[in-house]
This record gives sequence, C-alpha cells and structure tokens, in this order.
Amino acid sequence: MIAPIIHWFRRDLRLADNPALAAAATGGAPVIPLYVLDDATPGRRAVGGAGRWWLHHSLRSLDGDLRRQGSALVLRRGRALDAVSRLAEETGARAVHFTRGYAPGDAEAERRLGDTLGAQGVDCRRFAGSLLVEPEAVRSRSGGPFRVFTPFYKACRGLRIEAPLPPPSRLAAPMAWPASDRLEGWGLLPSKPNWSGGLRECWKVGEEAAQWRLDAFLDAALARYAANRDRPAAAGTSRLSPHLSFGEIGPRDCWHRVTLAAEAGGGGLTAGAETFLRELAWRDFSHHLLHYRPDLAEAPVRPEFASFPWRDDRPALAAWQRGLTGYPVVDAGMRELWRTGWMHNRVRMIAASFLVKDLLLPWQAGEAWFWDTLVDADPASNAANWQWVAGCGADAAPYFRIFNPTLQGEKFDPEGEYVKRWLPELAGLPAGLVHRPWEAPAAVRAEASVRLGETYPYPLVDHAWARRRALEAMARIRH
Ligand SMILES: Cc1cc2nc3c(=O)[nH]c(=O)nc-3n(C[C@H](O)[C@H](O)[C@H](O)COP(=O)(O)OP(=O)(O)OC[C@H]3O[C@@H](n4cnc5c(N)ncnc54)[C@H](O)[C@@H]3O)c2cc1C
Repeated sequence: MIAPIIHWFRRDLRLADNPALAAAATGGAPVIPLYVLDDATPGRRAVGGAGRWWLHHSLRSLDGDLRRQGSALVLRRGRALDAVSRLAEETGARAVHFTRGYAPGDAEAERRLGDTLGAQGVDCRRFAGSLLVEPEAVRSRSGGPFRVFTPFYKACRGLRIEAPLPPPSRLAAPMAWPASDRLEGWGLLPSKPNWSGGLRECWKVGEEAAQWRLDAFLDAALARYAANRDRPAAAGTSRLSPHLSFGEIGPRDCWHRVTLAAEAGGGGLTAGAETFLRELAWRDFSHHLLHYRPDLAEAPVRPEFASFPWRDDRPALAAWQRGLTGYPVVDAGMRELWRTGWMHNRVRMIAASFLVKDLLLPWQAGEAWFWDTLVDADPASNAANWQWVAGCGADAAPYFRIFNPTLQGEKFDPEGEYVKRWLPELAGLPAGLVHRPWEAPAAVRAEASVRLGETYPYPLVDHAWARRRALEAMARIRH
C-alpha cells in the first residue's frame, strides 16, 4: 500500500493552478485533502464575519469539486500544528504539502510544523502559489525590500510570471477516509440575526464561480477597464477580490488570461490590460509589505504616526459604520459594504479617508470594521491600503492630500447613480444636488421627500473645518 500525502488547504481553496496539490497528485499516491479551522493558535487573527460566510460556502464548493474527482475534503478544527500532525500520524501519511501563507505568524507556524513532522518522519513540503512573485524574489537595488510600489512593479515586470497549472487529472483516494468534522457544525454562517441575504444575492462562491467571474470580466469589462474602473456605478472592475483572497483562483491565472485576451487583438497589451495587471501587482506589493512588517494591521509604518492625536468618538465611528455621516458617497459605500460584503475601490478610498482625516478616528478602527465586513478581507491588502490612505504607510498618499467627499462623489459618480442605488432616501434629488443635499433649496428637498435630520442626516462635520483640523494634527506630529 502506498502511504498517502496530505494536502493541507489554506488560502488556496482551488484545484487548478495549485502547485502544492499538483505535486501531491503526481505519482499516484493517495491524496488526503484537509482544511483546518484554526481558531486556537494564540495570536492568530480570526476570520471576520463576512469572511466566515464566504469560507463556509467556499469549503462546501471545494468539497463538491473534490467529490466529483472521487475525493473529499477532511475538516478538522483546532491548532493547525496539532491537527495536521495528528492526521499525518492517524493516516500514516508520508508527506504533507501546503501553500505558504503570509499572515502574521504563518512563517513561524510553517517552520514549527516542519520540525514536528520531521520528528515524525513525515516529509513537509511548502510551495508558493498565492502570489505572482515571492517576496524573496524581488529586491530593491540596495538588496532590501521595496517600500515604494512603482520600482517594485518594475522589478516584477522584469521577472517571468509562471504559467498557471491545470487541475490534477486524478486524485487517488486513500484506502479508508479519516474522520471529518461536519461543516455545518462549525457555525461559520450567521444565525441570529442572519445578515447574509445581500451576500447570497450578490455572490456565487467557489472555484467555478471565480473562473466564471474572470470570463465575464474578459468578455464585458476588460476593454474599458482603464476608463471605467473608477466609476462605482459601472460594473467596471472584475470583482475577483474575494476569490483571490480565498485562493479560489490564482493570480497567475488572472495575469496570463488577461494578457492572452488583450494580446489576441494583435496589438500587444491594451491600456485596460496594463492597468489591470498593475492592480493585480498591488496585491502582491501588499503581501510584500506584510511579509516584512507582520504588524502592518496594528502599527504605522512611519513611526511619527505613533503619536498622532487620534480621537475617541464612538458615536462618530458608529455613524460611519452605518452609513449615516451625511456625506452621500461615503454613506453609499458603507451601505454597499454592509449589504454585499464588498465596496468599490474608489469609494473605499473616499470612505477610509473620511474616517481618518475628516473624523480623525484611528485607521485601525476602520481596518477592523473592514476586516469584519468585507468578503475579500485580506490581512495584507486591507492593512496596506488603510495605511496608504491614512498617510502612515510605506508608500502612502501624503497626509496633506485630503479627499473632499463631495467633490470626489461628483467627479466619480456625476449622475449620482451609485448614491441613489444605495441611498434610496436621496433618489428624488437631481444629479447636481445628490452629493450635497444640504444645499438643495427647501422646495427641491420637499419635492424629493428629503427631510434633513429625519430621512437623511446633516453632515457629521463640516469638511473645510475638518480638513484644517487634520492638517493641524499632522503639523503637531511633524514638529
Ligand atoms: C481602505 C481599503 C481597504 C482595502 N481592503 C482590501 C482587502 O481587504 N482585500 C482586498 O482584496 N482588497 C482590498 N482593497 C483594495 C481594493 O479596493 C480591492 O482589491 C478591489 O476593490 C477589489 O475589487 P475588484 O476585484 O473588482 O478589483 P479589480 O479592479 O478588478 O482589480 C483586480 C484585483 O487586483 C487586486 N487589487 C486591486 N486594487 C488593489 C489594491 N489597491 N490593493 C491590493 N490589491 C488590489 C485585487 O486582488 C483585485 O481583485 C482595499 C482598498 C482600500 C482603499
């Protein structure tokens, strides 16, 4: 009897373009697919609420895909180190394969697993698979990590992005299946209240759905991506982020399919494809930053921000979370987030800027809310982008560049279509006033059934005043 190989699934919940799984399947040894819900390792950040919803459906989908190949997903809960080594012992596995992780503590946990398995006589093999290029493969001219995106991207463009692998043609089953938890028993789905209705309407989860999203993007949106990606009312972006975040599709797959689709026209890469590849590389850059700064979600990269005079104002934080700030584009974004678990990138930037610069609330509070409510919540991209917006990140927007939420709304949602979609209480206002309802004449407001302070709030702060306050706070830490 050939001893089995365990493939430990982590944020690589797919069969295609999965080098660790492909290597396990080569040679015909039985493969035991395993997922461990690790809510026991001290210091490990638990997946947020929306992420748990996604994870439930993604695991179910993966199990279905495996069963169609005569295999199945074994579920275990507890400290990953214990669960993996115990399963290896139970099944007499000769090897454990997994895709490396980049979250804080992952590298240390992987090293300890290697030691433990080594002591059991089990081969432990770690594979790359979640990024376009590994952090160690790109170094600045001084030999250290990159802190700025553009040179990082230039270095990445100089490297060969490996072609994606097909799914294994066969996954041999073990003689006997080890015991598995029941997914329903893990309680990943919300019960009371069940807030997941909007997520269900909006998303199809799993590897097949990810491939469908990519196909749909290539067909319908790639050609106009460069022009439309900043228009929150348009379906102008790929919406692949939760699929990428849970590893239902690999970034190399996206990179190559977009490149091929764009080059099929014969004229080389289109502007849309160039812009998309660059965005995909921002995901890598965020992981690059996290790899070298495991505390990215907690501590500012720029040390002077440690003494920034953030305010403690719970009612203001709650108004922001619930989409009741009185600034329509911010509120529309926060309501889109609550309903669908996703928010358009442009609006993420505006809403995040409003929290840290207009309300002067700590970026970590915003990062934590996004962590809990985004289906694509990602330890690298979330933290890096919050630091970027707050001005305290490695390659951050300068602090003095403060978005005016009204002008941003008018620029990127000129017809007010996005705002009206998410704030039906403002739907009756004309486009020219929908981003500034407080300026609408009383008769126009009455006609649109808008009663400020009742159906929609007055602005929580005056932007011009808040801007000056933010700049003064910044001046204080600089001196
Ligand atoms: C404050 C803030 C928090 C964010 N938190 C997250 C997060 O937790 N998880 C997450 O995946 N993205 C995050 N982003 C980045 C970005 O908003 C989303 O990746 C994007 O909106 C996803 O939509 P899409 O798949 O349609 O993107 P597309 O425009 O189709 O881009 C394709 C892919 O490129 C990657 N990408 C695009 N922009 C960025 C970016 N700025 N940083 C990193 N990767 C990027 C994503 O994987 C995305 O799926 C955040 C941005 C901000 C401003």
